[in-house]
Amino acid sequence: MVVILNAVKDLFPSEEERFFASFRMTECWRLIAACIIDLMPIVVERRELNWKEKLYLPAFLGGFAITLRHLLATVFGRGKVTMQYPEEKWPMPPGYRGAPTLVRDEEGREKCVGCQLCEFVCPPRAITIKPGELPAGEGHGNVEKFAKEFEIDMLRCIYCGLCEEVCPEQAIFLKQEYALTGYTRGELVNNKQKLLELGGVMVDGIHKWKNK
Ligand code: SF4
Ligand code: SF4
Repeated sequence: MVVILNAVKDLFPSEEERFFASFRMTECWRLIAACIIDLMPIVVERRELNWKEKLYLPAFLGGFAITLRHLLATVFGRGKVTMQYPEEKWPMPPGYRGAPTLVRDEEGREKCVGCQLCEFVCPPRAITIKPGELPAGEGHGNVEKFAKEFEIDMLRCIYCGLCEEVCPEQAIFLKQEYALTGYTRGELVNNKQKLLELGGVMVDGIHKWKNK
């Protein structure tokens, strides 16, 4: 015993090291015990059916009564649960994050300056931007770049909203639109024109063309 204690002291000279070593050993044993318990088979007792369950008919009639209740509620105009989609659509709550779109300012100018921050931050790499240079002195203020091409692949987009969060110009917004459909994969890649159509105008305090 003394030999073992001396060996432990040699291995872990300080009190602190000995404490952590003993703590780790305890954790190891607990883990091993948990693994053994997990590997032990558990016998699940199968419950006997009572006479009502064995008859089957009460359960059948119960289900039928629910169907009948819904049918009567629908026929007499109460509790209508269906919606004539897509003519009717659910009103989405204000904070709903739908499809990402590009917006224009109140003077109809694109707000995006092609900085590519959204492309960089997008987790599934759904955004592709080709920035272009604006010619100096043609009424662009201090803005030097714009997005020559801007695409969002809606088959990749996970509607996370990071592009909106990161945009320094408040140019990209996740709008309420959630029903984007197409017959081909290509139709679900929104180009700049479509993104601007979906986004519309967003009035805010950023006037980069004038005061930046
Ligand atoms: S919402 Fe998220 S996934 Fe979709 S384009 Fe923006 S950053 Fe990418
Ligand atoms: S949408 Fe915003 S973050 Fe993305 S390129 Fe345009 S200005 Fe930059």
